[in-house]
Amino acid sequence: MSRWPLFTRKRNTMAKGKDKQNFAARSELASTGIFADGREIARLRWLFLAPLTLAILVIIATLVFVLYWHEHRSVQQGVLRIRASAQDFYDDSIRYDARALQAIMDALQRDPALRAALASRNPQELLMQTATLFDELKKDYAITHFYFSDASRVNLLRVHSPDRYGDRIDRITTLAAEKNGATAFGVELGPLGTFTLRLVTPWCDETTHQLLGYVELGMEIDRVLQKLRDFFGIEVFTLVHKDQLNRKQWEDGMRALGRTPDWERFPAVVLGSQTSQTVPPLLADRLAHGELGDSNSIFEAVYGGASYRMVFLPLQDAGGRNIAHMVLIADVSRETNAALNTVYMGSLTALTVGILLLGFFNWQVGRIGRRIESDAQTLEQLATHDDLTRLYNHRVFYTLLEEEISRARRYHHPVSLLMIDIDHFKRVNDTHGHQAGDAILRGLSERLSHQIRTIDRGCRYGGEELTVVLPNTEAALEMAERLRAAVESAPFAIGAGKVVAITVSIGAACFPQHANSGQALVSAADAALYAAKQGGRNQVCSVDRK
Ligand code: GH3
Ligand code: MG
Ligand code: MG
Repeated sequence: MSRWPLFTRKRNTMAKGKDKQNFAARSELASTGIFADGREIARLRWLFLAPLTLAILVIIATLVFVLYWHEHRSVQQGVLRIRASAQDFYDDSIRYDARALQAIMDALQRDPALRAALASRNPQELLMQTATLFDELKKDYAITHFYFSDASRVNLLRVHSPDRYGDRIDRITTLAAEKNGATAFGVELGPLGTFTLRLVTPWCDETTHQLLGYVELGMEIDRVLQKLRDFFGIEVFTLVHKDQLNRKQWEDGMRALGRTPDWERFPAVVLGSQTSQTVPPLLADRLAHGELGDSNSIFEAVYGGASYRMVFLPLQDAGGRNIAHMVLIADVSRETNAALNTVYMGSLTALTVGILLLGFFNWQVGRIGRRIESDAQTLEQLATHDDLTRLYNHRVFYTLLEEEISRARRYHHPVSLLMIDIDHFKRVNDTHGHQAGDAILRGLSERLSHQIRTIDRGCRYGGEELTVVLPNTEAALEMAERLRAAVESAPFAIGAGKVVAITVSIGAACFPQHANSGQALVSAADAALYAAKQGGRNQVCSVDRK
């Protein structure tokens, strides 16, 4: 089993105190470019989690936008569908009603007595024959207008209003019937802003084919709007362009109907028919500004806790003129609420997944980061430290020494170097064995580490020779003497309860006093050590105290 993982754990837990001394050097020496103090994890987090967070945020934002856009579009499309259906419904209703009018007209036309009455231009006779019939038509088919006019369009009888006659009818449908000599029909605007579907047929003598006159049937189309409201659940308003109306006629008509006319309420239009008593704010605001919507626009508003959409449909009369607009207002609260719910749920799901993803990657990055840091620490430890003594190794010793010397040059500080050698160590090995020698080397390194300052660097130079680099120190003799005495003061345990006493000889030299380079300083210390050995061992020698 490798002892390194154990060793690394042990180092991690004792990263305080003495170990701090090595830490600065370790970080400086880091050859892997990896920091072993948690900064690596922070770096990895920044490297991976920041882009991931950004990507997740962008994805969530895009998702929310796409969801919102999609849901909004589906609501709008619903409104467009209602508009298209309403338009079809309106057109179909008009066509259907026109066919019904045509059928009634055909039946009337086949009545010889009625034709004879028209030929004789006799209003009383006409009224007599049609009064009851009109009541039935009104009741069963909602027919509200029934005219007889002579060949020159002069009115003979309004069955629905017998008191008014004698005027010339020159409405579009009648003129078209006259021009084409055939039935004409279409919607026409009345003076009160209401719309009437009119069907006019020229009646001719069966044998002579001579024109007898014109018969007209008409029905108000308000009920189509009511049906639209009931079928689609929408409010429908018609807005009549003021330039199509005579103000006085309109105001008089309104008063006659018991309503208060308000011609000035909106700048460009007056309200024709309406399925709701009040004009919703969405429409009122738009009209107050004199603006009508083009038929492609959908207007939105929220009021009274509900969400509305409004669309405009242009209405044309039988002559193809734009006389009014139909306004459809739909309450789309249910649809918009469902859409919002989808957006909320979608965003919430995306956010939850994003947070889970981030959490998972954060955990993984932390794990990988710690692993990398621990591996880097182990690697660095292996590369820079001696396995047996845990002091810096020979290579690092030279690096540290050069660093201290160049710093000393820069700041004009002294640097001292101690070279320590165990006396007669060969004999210890020979007597007690190499394992005992190893134990003594470990014990000596430990004792050395306790004696020196935090800024001092203890190294294993090689064999049983140790060095200490002492920055900012001129007189290292004192320290050297303390070390020597500490070694001598107590024997070293070699296992199995045995101890062995040793002594050391120490050579000391100082930069720049004794040498002007790292190499020269080592030589000087070595020379001093040699002198100490020569002087009888267990002593300290400096260059100038040989
Ligand atoms: P002196 O220095 O006092 O002159 O005598 P010495 O016996 O210490 O001198 P020498 O340099 O001849 O011997 C050094 C010995 O140190 C040789 C070797 O057996 C021993 N040694 C070197 N490295 C280790 C080591 O890692 N473990 C052990 N057990 N012994 C070592
Ligand atoms: Mg030696
Ligand atoms: Mg020795």
